[in-house]
Amino acid sequence: MKIFSIFGDPVSHSLSPLMHNCVFKNLNYNACYTRTHLIDGDKLKDTFFALGLSGANVTVPHKEAAFHACDEVRGFAKKVGVVNTLVNENGKLIGYNTDADGFMYAISEFKNIKTILVLGAGGTAKALVSRFLEENLQVSVLNRSLSRLDYFKNLECETYTWSDFKTEQFDLVVNTTSAGLKDENLPAPKKIVENILNNTKYVADAIYGKLTPFLKLAKEKNITYKDGADMLLGQGVLANELFVQGELQKEDIKREMQKSFKL
Ligand code: NDP
Repeated sequence: MKIFSIFGDPVSHSLSPLMHNCVFKNLNYNACYTRTHLIDGDKLKDTFFALGLSGANVTVPHKEAAFHACDEVRGFAKKVGVVNTLVNENGKLIGYNTDADGFMYAISEFKNIKTILVLGAGGTAKALVSRFLEENLQVSVLNRSLSRLDYFKNLECETYTWSDFKTEQFDLVVNTTSAGLKDENLPAPKKIVENILNNTKYVADAIYGKLTPFLKLAKEKNITYKDGADMLLGQGVLANELFVQGELQKEDIKREMQKSFKL
């Protein structure tokens, strides 16, 4: 039996085990998917092989550590330096990123998006911003701390910290911070968040499984919003395809994975 896992800190909230196990079980694929609470990202590679894994997903805060742990990184992950999917290919650790395409799938129902404000500057923000720029969208980034903004400045995005943020009109605001994941924090001081929400058409949060304080505020203001569930589904289907290497059909994976959201 093949074994897969998700690495993260925290990891107990992750729906990935349920999603992938639903696919494996319902499609009679001989595999099981577990979760691994990993505190030290430097131990990712050793832990992966010690557990005898065939593949894994990586979540907060280890996606950049995962990039460095790989023997080879392929596709979009190479461009952004962020890995969320690992595959054991003949004893070599191969890294991919399925988050960005998962997110594009999630926001496909939002129409006429031309300008986006991204809150946060971590691994998810890097992947999404690079993908948005590929679509010729205009992207600004707002982060709590200055140090992580250089990456986005080099991509010629407008970048702000809380102290120099200027309110503008955006079509979509995306929260990629972990504020609200295991606390009740907003991704920026309330006054700034209120300003942002008063000047956007759509809002999306990468966090799923709960209405974050950010989405609560958007809901109160009658803004069309979505949480991270569709992004999760999109990245999960793409990751599963990499795990099973053509042995299952994409439509079947998607159908069975979708069922796990109703369990
Ligand atoms: P990282 O640890 O790489 O980055 C976290 C970012 O959040 C940093 O920019 C950090 O700012 C900011 N941040 C953390 N706490 C706060 C706070 N209290 N207030 C404001 N900003 C804060 O995380 P990832 O990019 O890997 O993940 C981010 C989120 O996206 C997580 O909640 C994760 O669960 C979610 N996610 C969901 C997916 C899905 O499928 N739905 C897929 C991928 C991620 P600073 O630089 O100042 O520290």
